[in-house]
Amino acid sequence: MKYKPVVGLEIHLQVKTKTKMFSRARADYFNEAPNTFIDPVSFGLPGALPVPNKLAIEKAIKLALALNCEITEVVRFDRKNYFYPDLPKGYQISQFDNLIGRNGYVEIDIGDDSRRIRINRLHIEEDTAKSMHSGDNETLIDYNKSGVPLIEMVTEPDFESVEEVLAFAKRLRQIVRYTDTSDAEMQKGQMRFELNISIKEKGTKGLPNYKVEVKNIGSISVLEKVMNFEIERQAGLLDKGEEIKSQTRGLKDMTGETLFQRSKESSDDYRYFPEPDIPPIKIEKTIIEKLRNEIGELPNERKNRYIADNLSIEVAENYVEDIEKGNEYDRTMKLHDGKILDYSSHVVNMISIESGILDKEKKSFSESPLHPKDRHELIMGIYNKQIAPPSATMVIKEIISTKSEKKSGYVAEIIKEKDLAFIEDESEIDEFVKKVIKENEKVISDISKNPNALKFLVGQVMRLSKGRVNPNKAEEKLKESLGL
Ligand code: MN
Repeated sequence: MKYKPVVGLEIHLQVKTKTKMFSRARADYFNEAPNTFIDPVSFGLPGALPVPNKLAIEKAIKLALALNCEITEVVRFDRKNYFYPDLPKGYQISQFDNLIGRNGYVEIDIGDDSRRIRINRLHIEEDTAKSMHSGDNETLIDYNKSGVPLIEMVTEPDFESVEEVLAFAKRLRQIVRYTDTSDAEMQKGQMRFELNISIKEKGTKGLPNYKVEVKNIGSISVLEKVMNFEIERQAGLLDKGEEIKSQTRGLKDMTGETLFQRSKESSDDYRYFPEPDIPPIKIEKTIIEKLRNEIGELPNERKNRYIADNLSIEVAENYVEDIEKGNEYDRTMKLHDGKILDYSSHVVNMISIESGILDKEKKSFSESPLHPKDRHELIMGIYNKQIAPPSATMVIKEIISTKSEKKSGYVAEIIKEKDLAFIEDESEIDEFVKKVIKENEKVISDISKNPNALKFLVGQVMRLSKGRVNPNKAEEKLKESLGL
């Protein structure tokens, strides 16, 4: 294709707080009966006064810091005026210029390369209510969502490929979760994207003279489909020599197809003005430092740590995304006593077996009952030749399918119960070896010509003993008996 996309994103994020942005009504409205989590403020009744939610502001500052933003010294709220049934006051309390943070960036990785995507602004506002259009020309409105704290972030038009946008969306979602700003569960509407996309001929400088806006994208996979659809559609128009006008388009369905909604000649006039019911808020330097210190390890730091542990990029990224999996890896690594040189690869291997079993049982990693101590015990059991790798898999399977509480001791219990440990009694091993030699006279007769014969015999000892003879031991005993 001779074109390349130019993309900017706007992201809305519901902040994880108990109560709403400007009142004490509860904010965790998901799955609750409509219009039960409301009060005069979220309902926009005359005379109701907004009181800002301190925790929401702190979480927004913390996220802004994690996104490398400059924090504004005195923040203010503003009224953004527009009329819509899901906005009972006729305005949204938002922030226009004295907002929480500016000029940040997110570092994304594309293969071995990394790039910075600039964040233009980050501000706080309140969510709107939810309209439901029923079949018979009726619209129902649920005000539970009205007033839920939101963070809005706007990027610069820095993205030049679909891949970059997807890498950013995933990394941002990780940062948001790591800083506990939001659970960012997209199917619950906790994170929503708005796309600004245009295309230009490769090699040309500057931004295209139009942009197409697509609102309300509620999943990363739909975001990908919409971008691919728009790139194709816009390329088709430019190829025909048509001029593309700036416009807002909506999603037709989940296939990513978009439909024309309205043309956009100039930006909307929201007649912003300062919210008179909320005084300016000074963000003290000590508060900023306190919040900065509360930020723990961030996703890219965690990824670098895993790469330093010799994990592959794929595994490192997987552990960064699945926080609980990464945490279990970390907890298991702490038990390492330095005996095994490449202990980390043993942990990764064990976690991958565990993960496969959990997937089959349709369970998430956080539901795994396998305790780090038990994981460590299995690794050491294999390393010290006390148990065969297939037996370890069996133990993990058994724990996942029969236990629910996460605690240590299951491994020892199951190894004992199922008699899975390698046999230590020499005479018992000799019995198996004797039997195998007796049953395989033909193989033994041409053992000098067949390089695989010994391996085969070891396998037979394993089969007869149901994996309970250490294969090295079996080989040693066979060689001894056969005079090799
Ligand atoms: Mn907004």
